[in-house]
This record gives sequence, C-alpha cells and structure tokens, in this order.
Amino acid sequence: TGSKPDISREKSAELYEKAKNYFPGGVNSPVRAFKSVYGTPLFIQKGDGCFVWDADGNQFIDFCGSWGPLILGHNNAKVREKVTEVMQSGMSFGAPTALENELAELIIKNNKFVEKIRFTSSGTEAVMSAIRLARGYTGKDKIIKFEGCYHGHTDSLLVKAGSGLVTFGETSSAGVPKSFAQETIVIPLNDTEAIKAAFEQFKGEVAAVIIEGIPANNGLLMQDPEYIKSLEQICKENNALLIFDEVITGFRIGFEGAAAYYGVKPDIVTYGKIIGGGLPVGMYGASAEIMGHISPDGGVYQAGTLSGNPVAMAAGIAQLTELLRSGFYKELNNKATEFAESIQRFATARNYKLKVFHVGSIFWMAFTDKDKIQSAEDIDPASMEKFKLMHRELLNRGIYLGPSGYEVGFVSAAHTKIELEKAKRAIFDSLDVVFRN
Ligand code: PMP
Repeated sequence: TGSKPDISREKSAELYEKAKNYFPGGVNSPVRAFKSVYGTPLFIQKGDGCFVWDADGNQFIDFCGSWGPLILGHNNAKVREKVTEVMQSGMSFGAPTALENELAELIIKNNKFVEKIRFTSSGTEAVMSAIRLARGYTGKDKIIKFEGCYHGHTDSLLVKAGSGLVTFGETSSAGVPKSFAQETIVIPLNDTEAIKAAFEQFKGEVAAVIIEGIPANNGLLMQDPEYIKSLEQICKENNALLIFDEVITGFRIGFEGAAAYYGVKPDIVTYGKIIGGGLPVGMYGASAEIMGHISPDGGVYQAGTLSGNPVAMAAGIAQLTELLRSGFYKELNNKATEFAESIQRFATARNYKLKVFHVGSIFWMAFTDKDKIQSAEDIDPASMEKFKLMHRELLNRGIYLGPSGYEVGFVSAAHTKIELEKAKRAIFDSLDVVFRN
C-alpha cells in the first residue's frame, strides 16, 4: 500500500475561487474552509444515505453527517416526504402551528429532562437563551465554562482560559468586549479542584455551569461519570444551575442524550442538530417552573421570526419518529462500536500511536498513545499533522471526515455493514501510509 493520487478537485476549486469573492474565506462557517487539512474545500452537490458526492463527481462515504444532524443519513425518504408534504401549505407564518405541538410532544413525552421547551433556529441561539434564562432565574451574572467545550458563537462563550487554575475568560474572538468575557470563568474539564476553587472564589456570583453533555467539539473528551455527577451536587450547593449543552449529544447518545447516559439531572438542556433533521432548529428546555421565566410568561426575553417554522418542525417530527422505533439506538450504537473497536484493534496490532475514542455513534481518532484524553490540554497539537495526512489519504480513498482533527465523526443509521467494511479498509490503508512516512 502507498499514497493514493489526489482526486480531481477542478470544479470544487473553481467554485471556491468564486465563493471567495462572496464570503470571507469563501465559506459561511470557518471550519469548512479546509484550513487544517490539505487542498481546497470540496463543494458538495448531493447526499444520499451514507454517501455524498462533490461537484467533480467524486463519491464519498460520509462520516461528517452535516456535523451531526443526519443520524438517519442524507436525504432520508421519511424526512424528505414529510418536509415536502408540509411545504405544500407554505413555508413560514410567524404564528403558532400544530406542527410545533407535535414536535414538542415527541420530545417532552419521551424525555424526562424537559417539561417545557422553546424552539430556536440554531444551537448558538439555544445556548445563548439558556444562559440568559439561567441569569434571569438566579439573578446572578457569572457563568462557569470549560476549556475544550464549544457552545456556539455567542459572545460570552467565545472565551478561552487564561493562565492559572481559575481564570476569567479571555476573549477567543476579536469583537467580544473584555467586560463580557469577564462574566465567564473558564476552568479545565474533569478537574474537581478547579470547580471547587471557582465556586469558592466567586461565591454567590455564579448563575450557571455550562458543559457539553459529552464534550465533542475538541476531540471526544470522555469525562469520569463521578465528575459529571459532582457537577450536579456543587451547583445545588451554590444555587447555580447546571446547563447541559446537548446540541451534539442530544438524541445522538440516545433519545435522552448524555443526561440519561450519566444519570444526571441538569436544570436546563439545550438541543439542536438532530431535532431539526438537517433543517435549522435548536431548542432549550427545563422544568415548567424555570421555563416560566421566559417571555411572555416571565421577564427573560427571547424570540425568533423563524422559530418553530413548519418546514423545520416537519423534518424534526419525521426524524425523531424514526429514532423512537424500538432498538434504533441499540443497533446504531452496536454498529458504531464495532467500527471504532476494529480500527483500534488494527492500530494496536501494528503498534500505531492511535486511540479511537467512541461513545454511542460518535467516534474520534486521536493520534496519541494516551489511554484517556479528558481535557483540552491532553491533546498534543503536533498530532494534528498526522490527522492531516490521514484526511488526504481518506478523501483519496472515498471517505469523508470533517476537515479537522479536533472534530468527531458520526456513524448514521444509513451506514450499512458493507460500507463500514469499505471504510475500515480505507482507514487501515491510510493509517499504513501515515505511519510509514
Ligand atoms: N453547542 C454545541 C455543543 C455544538 O456542538 C454546537 C455546534 N457544533 C453549538 C452549540 C452551536 O450550534 P449551531 O452551530 O447550530 O449554532
């Protein structure tokens, strides 16, 4: 086995040149620009099942799945049919529709973590609103977040840790006022001392602790279950709310997400991605009591022109209905586990420095020999060079992974055994290339 010749990217490159005239970096979301991998971005033309095709006609088995929403795969017939049907009656009214009730019922009746919810149009909005709700509810301002968790691009969460165990956040984006970042305390994951110290130092000031149900935006950082449970306790002791950001893990790890996985009861939960079936939907929810603080019932303002719009609701209804079928998650998770474990077995047998971390149908290939990676600082940035090589080899073998080594991959219900076998073979061959160079 050796390096494969590069696929043709002529049409994609042409489209990218054009796009650069229209969009900063030629894209509408930065990671799409392929800055941390080889070549120019692939412009995707079509998706079906577990496959995508680019503008040059190259076909790939896709493990990005639009970054998580497509748990049933691309262009799922049930989702497409429901959306098409609903669209015949108009796209948006900015008025209540029965479809919102239908999706809300699917969620609330099958999920013990939320009694009332509010739909938004993105995960970012859901999290932004959840934070405002926590502040409004507790009457406190400060938020604790973790280095290595991403919660969308709302101002107060575009912060990174400074030096020291407990620090005010430093803005991680130009345009975020220092004074906003000062309301966010950033601490390392899986570190009991750090969270204790944070609550100690900012006694009576912390409105909420926000964490990704299972951190999956900076590698897959599996936390110790006792640690996650301890968050519930320390929040209670300090009258702070625990917010689980389940935009990725919600309906992915199981219908009740990471909260059920850990057996923890967060005070506010945010969802996105999967609940929209590939259309723009986010959501936050909590007990009826906490949600009673949202306008017009309460004083915390939050709104949206397209919130709960019928087309997006239709996609969510169709998708969640499929997920509720008995055995759905068991089958998907078993398939993904087998996939991840056989890559690990291959790497181990060859003494390759690779660890495949996985949970449910989420997997992450880390170029490391550490058995556990639980915080952002456990990741060696230099290891990303190996990811970059692997990414190119995989594209050249018809496998599409998100274009960054910090991103996780998703197995969908549409990945059949045959395609997963093909993908494994391609991954094995690519790893051979990566580790023999
Ligand atoms: N929270 C988490 C955990 C996410 O993974 C993301 C997006 N990757 C967001 C929030 C933001 O969602 P959106 O991109 O829909 O705004």
